[in-house]
Amino acid sequence: MAFRGNVVEAGRAAGEEQQCSEEREFHEEREFTTEDTVCTEEEDGRCSFLSAGRERGRPVGAMFKLHAVQAKWGDCLLVEYGTGRSQFLLVDGGFLSTYRGPLWKVLNARVVPAGGRLERVILSHVDADHIRGLLGLFEELNTPRRDGAPPFLSVGGLWHNPYGVTLDPEGSLERRLKRLAALPAMHNVAILEFLQSIEDGKELQRLAAELNIPRNGDGYDPLTVEMATGAVSFDNLRLTVVGPTEANLGMLRAEWEAWLDQYEAALLRGDLGMLDNTDGSPTNQSSICLVVEADGCRMLLTGDGRSDFLTEGLLARGFLDAAGRAHFDLCKLPHHGSNANITPEFFRAVTADRYVISANGTHGNPDYDTLVWLVEAAREQNREVEIICTNETNSTRTLVVSHPPDRNGYSIRILEPDADSIEVALA
Ligand SMILES: [Zn+2]
Repeated sequence: MAFRGNVVEAGRAAGEEQQCSEEREFHEEREFTTEDTVCTEEEDGRCSFLSAGRERGRPVGAMFKLHAVQAKWGDCLLVEYGTGRSQFLLVDGGFLSTYRGPLWKVLNARVVPAGGRLERVILSHVDADHIRGLLGLFEELNTPRRDGAPPFLSVGGLWHNPYGVTLDPEGSLERRLKRLAALPAMHNVAILEFLQSIEDGKELQRLAAELNIPRNGDGYDPLTVEMATGAVSFDNLRLTVVGPTEANLGMLRAEWEAWLDQYEAALLRGDLGMLDNTDGSPTNQSSICLVVEADGCRMLLTGDGRSDFLTEGLLARGFLDAAGRAHFDLCKLPHHGSNANITPEFFRAVTADRYVISANGTHGNPDYDTLVWLVEAAREQNREVEIICTNETNSTRTLVVSHPPDRNGYSIRILEPDADSIEVALA
């Protein structure tokens, strides 16, 4: 979420999600059985649900895959890893509608037949397009089943940096924002959404506590570059936190205080137009960013972070060489491919073979500029890259015309409109 930009667009987006919030109010208990699951046909024609069921409990070899779930303009990523059997991490849950639709089907098709455990659920940050699906999941797990059976999934732990810990330890920013939001003339969708995100974060923590899911229980809390100094391992997987840094968080906090200092008086006078000139997001840049490694391959998962902050984290954790470069097998572009969160220089220095973009054109994401920077940086360096998108957008359509893939050394793969996820296999 960003405060800058088009409030009308944000309003439309908020309206769609509002429907989901109302649905949540009337949450209806659902029963989960493997018979309910929908068989998802993969590109190779294999029925993943049936094959996963056949493989249950049998060695399936080392694996390392990313499943980008259809999350509209949000993020929802399932990491599959393991030796001998598939294991899973869920990184962000998209919207509530993501959970109730594609994510629910993917969890039942892939995770349930493999033992029904998410080793960790990781929330990059509290914005609605990342947290709401996780709230849906945790609410479902917390709802007793009519048949008395245990929940359809177990969760080994939650990685989540509460807003109050990372950005607002004294609660002063929240208090000031609430004061603004209470003004009769206040209709700023972004501020209201932001306050809702803070509440959503608290709700996720409450549900996790009720479910006895430990938060940040792997020896590091909060999960920042300074605190999480070592990698955390699960089977063949290693997770290293490369964002946020304490310095980034301190800067964001200072920016927010300066923003409030500058605009509070004007807003209290009713000069709401000044909000249009604001920039930055209070939470995006606090995203937990991760290097996920297995079997000699590595993914860079960036939440809605910012590439310059990310570079600092990669440097601090020793991922950059002497020339300031790093290479990954896969990079999930930050902030749905927004050009506000990445630079051409980043694409030259931190390179990848595959770029995953979770976006559907809302807020203009992915930006055409971002796609051009990506393709041109790879072409300059004679690197063949694959771009994997959860949706076709105006920018992807424009890119393939302005920079034809066969003449520019890249390929593009887009999740089928009726599919729930797109698989990127690294091992
Ligand atoms: Zn987002």
